[in-house]
Amino acid sequence: MLDYIIVGAGPAGLACAIEAEKKGSSYLVLEKGCVVNSIYNFPSDMTFFSTPDLLQLGEMVFVTDAFRPTRNQVLHYYLRVARDYGLKIAQYHRVKSITRNGSSFKVLAESHKSLTGIFNAKKVIIATGYYDNPNHLGIEGENLEKVSHYYTEAHPLYDQDVAVIGGKNSAVEAALAFYRAGARVTMIHRGSGISDSVKYWVRPEIEKHIADGKIKAMFNSAVTRITGESVFVKNGGEEKEIKNDSVFALTGYHPDLDFLKECGVELRRETLEPKHNPDSLETNINGLYVAGSIAAGMQCNKIFIENGREHGKIIVCNRE
Ligand code: NAP
Repeated sequence: MLDYIIVGAGPAGLACAIEAEKKGSSYLVLEKGCVVNSIYNFPSDMTFFSTPDLLQLGEMVFVTDAFRPTRNQVLHYYLRVARDYGLKIAQYHRVKSITRNGSSFKVLAESHKSLTGIFNAKKVIIATGYYDNPNHLGIEGENLEKVSHYYTEAHPLYDQDVAVIGGKNSAVEAALAFYRAGARVTMIHRGSGISDSVKYWVRPEIEKHIADGKIKAMFNSAVTRITGESVFVKNGGEEKEIKNDSVFALTGYHPDLDFLKECGVELRRETLEPKHNPDSLETNINGLYVAGSIAAGMQCNKIFIENGREHGKIIVCNRE
């Protein structure tokens, strides 16, 4: 019987593992992909908004001369954290269910070899983030192969007609990267302009390209359907057909709320936050905790790496 099962090897899950390691507790991190799987799936040319000091975990200094580190530097740093702390992580183990078993928990996981693992722990920490679940538009054609909710590489979009849906940081960074790679980009956003939340060092470039007509922007506009050759965009009463090769619906992400509910965790009505005690991060299920951005429900701009990494101390250090 382990003291802890930690679900998810993102920064918040790793921070919990570090605290368990330091305390001498027994634990295992179960991760459906690789270590920091979400960051691995971020755009390959991405530069983080956060500075290295805000990303580091435990006592391990993130040494780099970059003011804002790249995705590759961050991946390299978190692998060092996992290795040098000797964290116990079972990669490629997808947790299927967490059930109470008397005073402890039974956690069922499937590995990439299709084997089923059953793990028993006194406490379980869910730290699965939100990047796996995009906010869908719910429109016809959203399942076409040309539509993606993730941007990873700009290179294949050279000489292509690309629509980017959304008006915040992911949409703006993608639109700029696609434009630089030689795509003809149209941004389509339901708001009246580029969002105020777009970082101040990114905003001037997108505004200049829009003003110069190098990136087209349709504001107060909604994509109503997508076909193999086009996107249909409604602006006021008018619907326009726009020739199109690829669509990036960068409309944000949300935590796996269904999984939380299956575990018996209740959600708050407005925010869909898992009900939890903020002083302990324990949910309405005794012994079941949430760590990292999942604790914020749909308010994905509330918990980042820099504050989610503190959850390990709150959960593990406060416990007997
Ligand atoms: P986001 O901040 O949630 O923005 C989603 C955008 O999609 C918003 O403009 C939103 O419109 C729009 N949208 C949502 N649902 C829609 C719908 N059904 N129909 C049409 N439009 C819809 O998502 P994000 O930009 O992916 O950012 C997620 C997080 O990652 C943020 O914390 C962000 O700061 C971070 N991020 C970091 C970096 C970096 O470190 N380099 C880069 C990108 C993003 P409204 O504006 O009207 O709500």
